[in-house]
Amino acid sequence: MFGPVEQSKSYPLFYKMPAGPGHYFGRLSAGRLYGQKFLIAFLVELSKQWFGKHARHPFGIGDIAAEDGRRLPDHVSHNTGAAVDLFVIHKNGAKRNGGTNRITYRDKEYDSAKTTDLARMISIKANEYKLVQFLYNDPNVQNTVRSAPPIQTHKGHDEHIHLLFNGQHPHTDEKLDRILGIKSLSERLREYLHVLIPSDKLLWFGSRGRMVQALQVIINRLGPSLLSLLKEDGIFGPKTNARVREFQLQNRLTADGIVGPKTKKALADGVLKIQAKGG
Ligand SMILES: [Zn+2]
Repeated sequence: MFGPVEQSKSYPLFYKMPAGPGHYFGRLSAGRLYGQKFLIAFLVELSKQWFGKHARHPFGIGDIAAEDGRRLPDHVSHNTGAAVDLFVIHKNGAKRNGGTNRITYRDKEYDSAKTTDLARMISIKANEYKLVQFLYNDPNVQNTVRSAPPIQTHKGHDEHIHLLFNGQHPHTDEKLDRILGIKSLSERLREYLHVLIPSDKLLWFGSRGRMVQALQVIINRLGPSLLSLLKEDGIFGPKTNARVREFQLQNRLTADGIVGPKTKKALADGVLKIQAKGG
């Protein structure tokens, strides 16, 4: 249901909110969908839960933060990647996504009951994720939803909910990775081991195919090496040959460049070491 969660290329603390069926993105938000991992996990859980109940009425996601974590000149409170704006619910499930195309709690097409339910779902998760600021001006929602912190009125918040978290959530990185479907390095490498290990086929100079590619992916991540990283192209050429011999020497194996059971076992042991270190 959710696309893979990408890490920011310019700011490793941030992750990009993936598209999903429970929400849509604001028109002006394209470069501003990056936030801390816990916030993206919160939004992914909220979106899944929301979709399970209100599949035809997605909520909108406006600004989170910029990919590189710089200050948004017009939206300073968002630069930490711990705040998000949510557009409220239209009766027809229409995507009223910001600018002049927006809906406020005073409009006829505004769905107060569903927006109240959205606020309630948020309030249930508020303590777990350490919400510290919850802004939205609809008095009906304010009076119906008991939330800590309470829902407060703030200028400009007639058409969107603003949430700010303090970042002190109790979740481990592993738990957030599970919510976001992010695989650890050792998990990904184990998938390549499944390609490489079960076959009796020997690999050496001139071999080609998926098994050679799996070998290249794994060996590239088992350092240290004095050689440059291999192209992961499935072609066992001179560079792969040199790297395999180096790896064999490092692991006290015969440095013949032939990948058989002993070399495969050493590759598997290398992946286990990464796993043991928590990678
Ligand atoms: Zn905001």
